[in-house]
Amino acid sequence: MGKVTGFMEFERLSEANLPVQDRVKNYKEFVLHLTDDQAKQQGARCMDCGIPFCTTGCPINNIIPDWNDLVYHQDWRNAIDVLHSTNNFPEFTGRICPAPCEAACTLNINNDPVGIKSIEHAIIDKAWENNWVTPQINPNKTGKKIAVVGSGPAGLAAAQQLARAGHSVTVLEKNDRIGGLLRYGIPDFKMEKSHIDRRMVQMEAEGVTFKVNQNVGENVSAAELERDYDAVVLAGGAEYPRDLPVPGRELDGVHFAMDFLTPNNKMVAGDTVPDQIKATGKHVIVIGGGDTGSDCVGTSNRHGALTITQFELMPQPPEKENKPLVWPNWPLKMRTSSSHEEGANRDWSITTKELIGENGKVKALKGARVEWKDGKMQEIPGSEFTIPADLVFLAMGFVAPVQKVLDAFGVEKDNRGNAKATTDGEGCYKTNKAKVFAAGDMRRGQSLVVWAIREGRQCAREVDAFLMGSSTLPR
Ligand SMILES: Cc1cc2nc3c(=O)[nH]c(=O)nc-3n(C[C@H](O)[C@H](O)[C@H](O)COP(=O)(O)OP(=O)(O)OC[C@H]3O[C@@H](n4cnc5c(N)ncnc54)[C@H](O)[C@@H]3O)c2cc1C
Ligand code: SF4
Repeated sequence: MGKVTGFMEFERLSEANLPVQDRVKNYKEFVLHLTDDQAKQQGARCMDCGIPFCTTGCPINNIIPDWNDLVYHQDWRNAIDVLHSTNNFPEFTGRICPAPCEAACTLNINNDPVGIKSIEHAIIDKAWENNWVTPQINPNKTGKKIAVVGSGPAGLAAAQQLARAGHSVTVLEKNDRIGGLLRYGIPDFKMEKSHIDRRMVQMEAEGVTFKVNQNVGENVSAAELERDYDAVVLAGGAEYPRDLPVPGRELDGVHFAMDFLTPNNKMVAGDTVPDQIKATGKHVIVIGGGDTGSDCVGTSNRHGALTITQFELMPQPPEKENKPLVWPNWPLKMRTSSSHEEGANRDWSITTKELIGENGKVKALKGARVEWKDGKMQEIPGSEFTIPADLVFLAMGFVAPVQKVLDAFGVEKDNRGNAKATTDGEGCYKTNKAKVFAAGDMRRGQSLVVWAIREGRQCAREVDAFLMGSSTLPR
């Protein structure tokens, strides 16, 4: 524990953000990591709890009190080693994780939690700045070949762990660039893509081969992979979006969120994107109140939309959680993202009844207010309204993985259409097929980057044990 009285002396400090009027002019990151002195002070707030709830709240069980202490003592070199011991990609989570560790922090019971994510961000940025992130090359090669299908955080974490265990790993990605939703979902203003590129350089040196434009189940056959590799990891994400079956859904201007976000990331990467959906000068409606919807808001603001309105079907959550009731669990409470701060009208308990068009193009949205009683939704009589809409983005979540790749391997699915594999006990992450494993959103359904990293790491251990009889990779 750095400073015994730190939690009483110092307030939680948020990372500085560039002003809204500057940051909406481009797609660059705008969150500035803590200075050394600030990070030291924030590290001093950690109480080094006997039972560190932060560590159990974190899906990858980051050893948070230890690196808080190391940062307090300005021992950044050891801090990154401790951080990397549980997390392959802290530069991703240090930027975009919602930080369930902070919700679980003991200090959160009667104070503001330790700024764990901001300290993580500072550690990993310093490590890259000082060239401390180098390839960990295993000189003892096993001769085993593993194919990883999908290059999101789950596939990348599995691939890196397996390469470090001495296996020859090939990552097959159907898109033209590596990274999954980190690359083609999450906008650059939340996470610039150079972070993925430099990890790829590290991983290539460690023995990972990346192949793009490889659509397994389409232009690459499942049988070929089963024949040529000793094991296959399916980490294809959960890409199938939830639709909105209302009159007018077919109108021009009504799109799934990803049809807006993915081409925008390609444009930012320097690609020419024909027929890119542009929000410039338009009335934008975003349906769905989660991360994807918030990213549509941030991107629309950068396009220069005329108005942006975000509707959510569920009621408005409370401003603050009832801490004694919910701590150390993830609380339901009002969350205002940096994209919301940049400007958007938000409304809750709204159902969409119809999308109204003119000459085949959407012109307005007809909605109504609802109330929730005993978990059931009821429309409030007389609450109907109409609002202008030139673009409507459907951001209501993702229901399942694309089934084709699972069917190509003959993998059994659970009742939600995800690859069926447990996470406990012997044979976990293994599907019904002899050497086929599954991890990340493809196994657990739509989730978070940190969960994908956890599943990739744990799955790698199971693959290693399956191939070698036992594994020294961490659980
Ligand atoms: C817009 C958006 C914003 C988000 N923001 C956040 C956030 O701020 N914080 C957070 O923690 N989480 C966020 N998430 C969720 C997070 O991105 C996902 O939970 C995470 O990326 C899942 O990782 P994954 O590796 O399982 O799958 P993915 O990242 O989806 O990667 C799967 C990859 O597999 C590839 N693939 C699929 N099928 C095949 C095939 N047949 N052959 C070859 N390749 C294939 C896909 O092209 C894709 O590249 C967001 C999600 C979205 C959509
Ligand atoms: S729960 Fe909070 S105060 Fe306790 S060890 Fe973790 S970060 Fe430090």
